[in-house]
Amino acid sequence: MARLKVRLLSEGLRVEPNADEIPRKPSHRVRSGSCGGLDLVLPDGTWINAPVNERFARRSVLRLVLTETGPAIDDRGQRIPVELVPCPGYYDHQTTSGTAMVRLAQLCSDRVGIGLTNVCTFWRSRSGRCRFCSIGLNVRDEDARKPIDDIVEATLAALADPIAPARHILLGGGTPNDEDTGAPQIAELASRLRARTDVSIYAMLAPPRDLGLLALLRDAGVDEIGLNIELFTDRAARRYIPAKHRAIGHDRYWYALERCVELFGPLNTRSITVVGLEEPAHTVAGVSRLASMGVLPILSPLRPLAGTHLEEHATQTSNNMWELLQRAASAAAEFDVPLGPLCIPCQSNTLTLPGDRRYRYY
Ligand code: SF4
Repeated sequence: MARLKVRLLSEGLRVEPNADEIPRKPSHRVRSGSCGGLDLVLPDGTWINAPVNERFARRSVLRLVLTETGPAIDDRGQRIPVELVPCPGYYDHQTTSGTAMVRLAQLCSDRVGIGLTNVCTFWRSRSGRCRFCSIGLNVRDEDARKPIDDIVEATLAALADPIAPARHILLGGGTPNDEDTGAPQIAELASRLRARTDVSIYAMLAPPRDLGLLALLRDAGVDEIGLNIELFTDRAARRYIPAKHRAIGHDRYWYALERCVELFGPLNTRSITVVGLEEPAHTVAGVSRLASMGVLPILSPLRPLAGTHLEEHATQTSNNMWELLQRAASAAAEFDVPLGPLCIPCQSNTLTLPGDRRYRYY
């Protein structure tokens, strides 16, 4: 099943016409959109966010079909039954001020994601934006305003959803500026949510210039934090994340990650790297450095999203992804660190191998 998951991330999933009645989730997405596919669960409990919307997925030999006993993945005639994660009920509801809740809080696997900002300072210029990122395409500008009361109401509705309740919370979105990187807004929202719920709150942001703001996040009730370095070499960063790399650079990431480990603890600090845009040896070396610091490395395969610079970019072959996964897992294991995330449903769009004792459900 781990092999099948890697193939799905590499090749995508073609939805057959008879499976089209399967309810799709709306395409509002937090950050770079790598959880905008179809959430499904394989027979051994492996979660996968299968790419279905991208061009490469339409050519996949892996097909989602509806059989007499339910949905299945057809792999050249072999059928593997799958469970589809349903659309939550709150997607049809509005806040008391009349805002559609789905615009404010979206379910990805078992986590409700809140993008505080729909735009990102680094995305504004076409030449500077991260090449794989679709943030400015996900939500129209006129929908950008998100009052905090509305966000809190939608998040609580997601946690209490009778169909697909969220088990934990992600606060993220684009980077509003390269100074405080939105940390004060995330802290304010975290503190409002912490007053109403005990569930884990995960903040994902770029490192602020003043690292003191990281303590503000912890004090506001953030339990876990993600600072996504994305690419480890200067060359790849200049090419694929130019504006962000110019404004923030690698050093601020490394210092901030070190501080986060002190504040939030090892393994509660994470960093995502995008797989497929730099040499595997550089990815493995970067994973090793993160693990040596107690940071949970997360391998996120490039998803060439429509409308991005990289929409025509090929994904890595599943064999290459599999090999990189093994090498990265071994490199991290030398420091007794697994590949992240630890949450099994949230591994749906990442490269992980099942079985680590620290993997869990919320
Ligand atoms: S920092 Fe880059 S990846 Fe993140 S939201 Fe901005 S443009 Fe997208």
